[in-house]
Amino acid sequence: MKIYADNAATTVVSDAALAAMLPCFQEVYGNPSSLHSPGQRAAEKLAAARETFAKYLNADPREITFTSGGSEADNQALRSAAALGARKGKKHIISTKFEHHAILHTLEALEKEGCEVTLLDIPPDGIVTVEQVKAALRPDTCLVSVMFANNEIGTIQPIPEIGAVCHEAGVLFHTDAVQAAGHLPIDVQAMHIDLLSLSAHKFHGPKGVGVLYARRGIALTNVIYGGAQERGKRAGTENIPGICGAAAAFEEACANMEKNAVYVADMRDKLIEGLTKIPHSILNGDAKRRLPGNVNLCFEGIEGESLLLLLDAKGIAASSGSACTSGSLDPSHVLLALGRPHEVAHGSLRLSICEYNTPEEMDYILAELPGIIHYLRDMSPVWDELEKGQRPHLI
Ligand SMILES: *Cc1c(COP(=O)(O)O)cnc(C)c1O
Repeated sequence: MKIYADNAATTVVSDAALAAMLPCFQEVYGNPSSLHSPGQRAAEKLAAARETFAKYLNADPREITFTSGGSEADNQALRSAAALGARKGKKHIISTKFEHHAILHTLEALEKEGCEVTLLDIPPDGIVTVEQVKAALRPDTCLVSVMFANNEIGTIQPIPEIGAVCHEAGVLFHTDAVQAAGHLPIDVQAMHIDLLSLSAHKFHGPKGVGVLYARRGIALTNVIYGGAQERGKRAGTENIPGICGAAAAFEEACANMEKNAVYVADMRDKLIEGLTKIPHSILNGDAKRRLPGNVNLCFEGIEGESLLLLLDAKGIAASSGSACTSGSLDPSHVLLALGRPHEVAHGSLRLSICEYNTPEEMDYILAELPGIIHYLRDMSPVWDELEKGQRPHLI
């Protein structure tokens, strides 16, 4: 059996997204900036895609900027808010310790440029509280950036509540909604969101396409300079095939959201129930307030990397933490922020499933995983010490 359970890293492009992309390569290949009809046909497709994103986010098409992905949208959102803040003498930014590196590394760069950054701690359930945000606000705070749902542990943050607090305080609110878009309902008006990033390849669209929503009146700062595309805020000939694929994928994901969420969450709960029965295992993040497709556990006495290789040999594609940190020996910053000790954080497994997975696949995972954990623990000197009582069990 071949099971793809790494949908938080990326997803397969859907039939609808592919069908929307294909005509853009050899039929509608004009440059949307060109005045001739081939160009105008491309411009129409671009406008339609922009309307699709605006519709499902409850935004205005003029508030939608296409980027090269979630990372670029995150970079541009933070840089724009920091620049607007600087004009008013406000240089303080609030974010959290478990953001994606697209946020954390941009904040590091902004700190070098004179910003002051407060990163909120992550409570044991993986859900930042409104009170934490409130307590961190300062008169010179220009931006709060809290992710909608975490990419490793899947926990969903109280976005509307945080947005309301920010608006009351007159502070801009950005959310990295890359994991949430297409999976959870998003309404930028009702949720008081000023800036929002999303990425097509996390909801069955193509890689290399992102969206930055910026509320009207918020002037964006360029990250890419050049031509006047995207109202002058993001230069470069628009990736029409990618953008059309992204819009088709978003429309499909939003139209089927409820149905998919129920189906996927059911499989998720089955996995959580079965896998937490493995001795000395622990679920990372709240069991219910998490993305429908996210399961993340730590198993004591094993290395996540070895677990992934053995799972791969059984046909199961999973992840240990985020795709960006795998390959490095550092444990996930998210699990450390959650309070997991280093040695526990190393033994993490993320299974991220979607509507293309089946209950039979979950049965297969549940049948194979306990044996693999047992096998790895049998070989582990650390597990030996744990079992002999030479070191204390941490979970
Ligand atoms: C994947 C991801 C990103 C980066 O998006 P790209 O399109 O791959 O650049 C940013 N934030 C989160 C939460 C993500 O999961």
